Amino acid sequence: MKHPDPSLLIVGGGAAGLALALELADRRPITLLRPSSDDHGASRWAQGGIAAVLSPDDDIEAHIRDTLAAGDGLCEAAAVRHTVTHGRAAIEWLLGLGMPFTRDPDPRSRYPYHLTREGGHGARRVIHAADATGRVLIETLLDHVRRHPHIRLRDDLTAIELLGSRETGCLGARCLDPQGQLHELPASDTVLATGGASGLYQHTTSPHPACGEGMIMAAELGAELRNLEFQQFHPTCLYDPEGSPFLISEALRGEGGYLRNIKGHRFMPDIDPRAELAPRDIVARAIDAEMQRDQCRHVWLDMTHLPRQVVSQQFPTIYSHCVERGLDITRDPIPVVPAAHYSCGGIATDLTGFTGVPHLYAIGEVAHTGLHGANRMASNSLLECLVFAHAVADVLKRTEPVPSDTTTTSAPAGSASNICIDPTHVKALMAHLRSVMSRYVGIVRNDNDLNEAARQIEAIREQSRQMQSHYRPDPALSQLNHAARLATLTVAAAQARRESRGLHYNRDCPSHASGIPRPSRQYLNSD
Ligand SMILES: Cc1cc2nc3c(=O)[nH]c(=O)nc-3n(C[C@H](O)[C@H](O)[C@H](O)COP(=O)(O)OP(=O)(O)OC[C@H]3O[C@@H](n4cnc5c(N)ncnc54)[C@H](O)[C@@H]3O)c2cc1C
Repeated sequence: MKHPDPSLLIVGGGAAGLALALELADRRPITLLRPSSDDHGASRWAQGGIAAVLSPDDDIEAHIRDTLAAGDGLCEAAAVRHTVTHGRAAIEWLLGLGMPFTRDPDPRSRYPYHLTREGGHGARRVIHAADATGRVLIETLLDHVRRHPHIRLRDDLTAIELLGSRETGCLGARCLDPQGQLHELPASDTVLATGGASGLYQHTTSPHPACGEGMIMAAELGAELRNLEFQQFHPTCLYDPEGSPFLISEALRGEGGYLRNIKGHRFMPDIDPRAELAPRDIVARAIDAEMQRDQCRHVWLDMTHLPRQVVSQQFPTIYSHCVERGLDITRDPIPVVPAAHYSCGGIATDLTGFTGVPHLYAIGEVAHTGLHGANRMASNSLLECLVFAHAVADVLKRTEPVPSDTTTTSAPAGSASNICIDPTHVKALMAHLRSVMSRYVGIVRNDNDLNEAARQIEAIREQSRQMQSHYRPDPALSQLNHAARLATLTVAAAQARRESRGLHYNRDCPSHASGIPRPSRQYLNSD
């Protein structure tokens, strides 16, 4: 059947999806899937800010250089230049929407908004809204999205697969509502903005991260997945076994916080001349090594030598969260651990967000644009969300929408059964998958562990396949299936990389391989 509706379907309502919707809504009717509250995904939880060259004392070439250095040989130079060059325009667009960035109180400052500095950046270039940039950003974007007459927000639907085939390209998405009813949403063009894959791990810096669902959905239509082995672990998540995950922003180290081991020794200067502001992979590995050596569950981030006001006024969200958890960070050191934070790999796209599958685009953390290489530099990811949302909008504004023809779509994956699955079974298997990934595919890897991970994940996949064939479709079961398939691909990419680079560290091959560094490329039929 031909669907005359030239609509655009955006799957995911974090920073990337919302920004794209606003950029295009005056031109095309948009359906935006945002199946849950703001707690889901990563954007709402961003604290530090957005990196861009804004100060007259900074320059584009310096931001490019810093990004390439952090990416450890695997950044794609064109993607880095494209993103950095469009940084100022992205921030001005947000200011135009009324985004209340924190102003610089210093009257001598050469830029009106306060810029902070984070790991890997050689200059102050991170614009922020106090220490709650993500929350303020989402509120600002959502406020406009909700008022736009051409944007239809669907908070009841979770996409479980894309419509179409490798031959037809993408024709929309098949979704489930909370009651398990299937819905087909045909669309002329579809944009995946479903976030990363940190949810494959047990300890994460946000409470409900994505598990790479969008990556698998795109791969099912033939899209390439690139660099899945590069998972970033943020060095400093609050160690709080009773509470929900909470990030202690890198900006605290940017303002002078010290990392101390359990005995109180400040260890980063022994490891890297940049000390606490070394790139995240170096800091996370150093913390991991201290914890292994001292057999302890956390290290300390010490802010107690800094003026009380700097800490409580510049970091009000972190300060009050810690106070609620019984910790005054102006007086007590903060217990911190590394946790899964950001997926550098994802769906390979070009500079317009195009995936290579006709009518399918990907933006934000689900995509691999080439910006981050083997290691993302702090605060470059929200910038990437905004710049690539703009790039996709630019292309789609110039493209005549073609009505989608869903005659050729395949039957839904999974069973036609009417039996509901016990959600505790799905939860337990997902928890098992996460613990396998954390134990064997974490910050420091080795060949034996990766082989063991592959073996255990195959068993999990078999169980999840059986569940899928016995029970009626269910959003959590679909997430488990996607996650288990992505975990298989992630382990395979880690096994195939016979070197250590950026975020991927394998004790059995601890150095760079010789020759030109190459990204890993995977297709679903090769998993
Ligand atoms: C704690 C924390 C702090 C961070 N701080 C910073 C920072 O200071 N600066 C910076 O640049 N970056 C930061 N990052 C990274 C940055 O926040 C993310 O990379 C970015 O927000 C990703 O945005 P996104 O729109 O791609 O995805 P997300 O914000 O993760 O949104 C994904 C959306 O997709 C939806 N979705 C997922 N699956 C489906 C499905 N199957 N069907 C329908 N919808 C679906 C989700 O519900 C959600 O709405 C931080 C990340 C975390 C976790």
